Formats: sequence, C-alpha cells, structure tokens
Amino acid sequence: MERGEAKSKKAGGPPRLCCICNEKRPVLKRPKTLQQICRECFYEVFEEEIHQAIVNNGLFKSGERVAIGASGGKDSTVLAYVLSELNRRHSYGLDLFLLSIDEGITGYRDDSLETVKRNELQYGLPLQILSYKDLYGWTMDDIVKMIGLKNNCTFCGVFRRQALDRGAALLKVDKLVTGHNADDIAETVLLNILRGDIARLSRCTSITTGEDGPIPRCKPFKYTYEKEIVIYPFAVSNPHHTYAYFKKLDYFSTECIYSPNAYRGFAREFIKDLERLRPRAILDIIKSGEDFRIATTTKMPEQGTCERCGYISSQKWCKACVLLDGLNRGLPKMGIGRARGGGVNGGDHKKETKAGSTVKTLETKQCGSLDF
Ligand code: SF4
Repeated sequence: MERGEAKSKKAGGPPRLCCICNEKRPVLKRPKTLQQICRECFYEVFEEEIHQAIVNNGLFKSGERVAIGASGGKDSTVLAYVLSELNRRHSYGLDLFLLSIDEGITGYRDDSLETVKRNELQYGLPLQILSYKDLYGWTMDDIVKMIGLKNNCTFCGVFRRQALDRGAALLKVDKLVTGHNADDIAETVLLNILRGDIARLSRCTSITTGEDGPIPRCKPFKYTYEKEIVIYPFAVSNPHHTYAYFKKLDYFSTECIYSPNAYRGFAREFIKDLERLRPRAILDIIKSGEDFRIATTTKMPEQGTCERCGYISSQKWCKACVLLDGLNRGLPKMGIGRARGGGVNGGDHKKETKAGSTVKTLETKQCGSLDF
C-alpha cells in the first residue's frame, strides 16, 4: 500500500486509485458493490452488465426490429443511448425505434416529448408518437377533469399498456424494450405481495414478458440500480455523478402533475431505506420474486381476446374497453370496480380461485408508467 493511500484510508477518505483499473482516481462508489471506481471503469462496468443481461437472457436476435418505450425520462433516455451504443459495438444487428405515448398531460408530457424529439435527432432513431386523444378520444387532462385525482393512474396505466402495443404493431417491431430498472422491479414485487396479486407476482420479475402475446416486452435494466442511472448520493466528490450526468444525456426530470405518490410511494421509500442499510436488498427482493412458486391449486386468469377491440384479455372486454365505456357513459367508476352491477364485466373484477382465494384482474396502480 502506498503511503498516500494509507494516509487517505486512515483519514476515512477515498482510496487514491480506482479499485478496478488501479490507475485513475475514483469519482464514485457503486451502490451495488460499494467499490470506489473511476469514470472510465464506471462506463465499462455499467454498459458491460447491461450487455451481459442482454446476452445471457437471449433478449434479441440479429435482424429484429426493436421499439424503445421512450418517455423522455432518465431511464428510457439512458436505455436509448446505451442500447444504440451496444447495438453498434457488439453488432447485435437490431433496427431500433423510439416509441412514445402522449397521454395528454399539459405541462408534463408535452414538455417531456420535446426531449424525446431531441433524442430522435441525437441518437438517429426514428420516433413514433401515439396519443390517447387519437386512440381513445380522451386525454388524461379530460379524464382527470371528470374523475379527479383518485384512480387517474388506473386509467393512464391501462391505456398506456395498450397504446404501446398498438404503437409497436404500427412500427411492425418484434420486441418492445422498456427502461424499468432493478429498483422498479423490486418495488413491483413488494406491491404485488402487498396486494396479493399472484398473477402479476409470478411474471413481474421476468426479463421478458408477453411472449405468448403479440409483442414481447424486455427489460434490459433488470439488474441496473436507479442510483447508477441517475440519482447518485454515493459519489466521491459530487452528488450528481451518474451515468446520465457523466454522459451529459438530455432527459426530462419533472414528475407527472397527476402523480398521487401514495401507496407505490411508500413501497419505494421502504425499498430505499432497506438499500441504505444493505445495498444488495434490491437484488435480493428480485431474487425472492423469481423464486416464488405458485401453488398448483391457485387458478390463474385465462387469457382470451376482448370481444370489442380484439386486445388480449382475461374478461369479455379488455380493461381499456371497460374503462373507456365507463368514461363515454359518464360513469367512470364503473370500470374500476366501485360501481355495483354495471359494465360488461359486472363491475366485479375478482375471480374465484380453486383455493377459495381471489385473484384481482383489475388493479389500481399508483403510476402505470412503471408497469409497462
Ligand atoms: Fe399517468 Fe403516471 Fe401521471 Fe399517473 S403518474 S397520470 S400513471 S403518467
């Protein structure tokens, strides 16, 4: 050990050299490993871990067309950048596109879409935007005017999921990738346990979902910590040292003006507290979710198609059609299981299981943008 290094350790300061290359000064401490590393090694390990997640899980095949769900936020912006880089560097042979959904939220989505439009030019990726107004005849501004700020995210999440599938079909892509990171997935595991949503719990940790549906969805950031993407309190000399910061990526960081930030917010805070005490907690929650085994006596919802629009559904009508019908009839609560006896699916979205428990088929989400 060098004399300077010993002195800095004794003083409780950072080691003099990056513990990976042993050549440069460290600029940050990785949350996953607590290693103090330099900027160049950070780029390398950050990108290499995503590349390994892609390769080890066989996410793509050469020649595939892949849409990146792009909101202009930190995760999808970093995903668009990193995936373009890896596609070039490792010759994946992918045709990449940006796919954005305009929910019609004035002062939020209109601004974030401007970021995506800049990303289109910066990364040279063709952009497709679909709006709720065109697809459903309603903007989120209209919906909130009618229903207020309770349950608005249920409408938004259900509509977004279908809108992304429709956009992906329009682009004729083989896969849709989203920027869900390890924190998002751990949070979803916890929420599904808290809600007793066995159907979602069994699939929320999968890196690829919807393989039986029209367009599979992949999460290349499944093992990537949010703090490394953008929020980095462990930086050695600057609290803003993250991948997005170092690379000077252009992203939009304002929260949705309609975000209720309640139930999901508690789960998020709980996970952040656990992470502070034990950084591996995020990966361990994901591992626990992966290892859950569903009892064979638990009846899972059977997938069919919506009689109205043909979208995948376990009910007569898909969730989007039920919600839309409620809106158009001036009975918006009909589709969220509050009203009694109304709606095609009877307003009761719980299915009896063989084990006597129930499986919810229409849940209330705090922010559907986390649940593509
Ligand atoms: Fe939609 Fe998310 Fe805003 Fe809720 S918080 S209205 S799901 S964008």
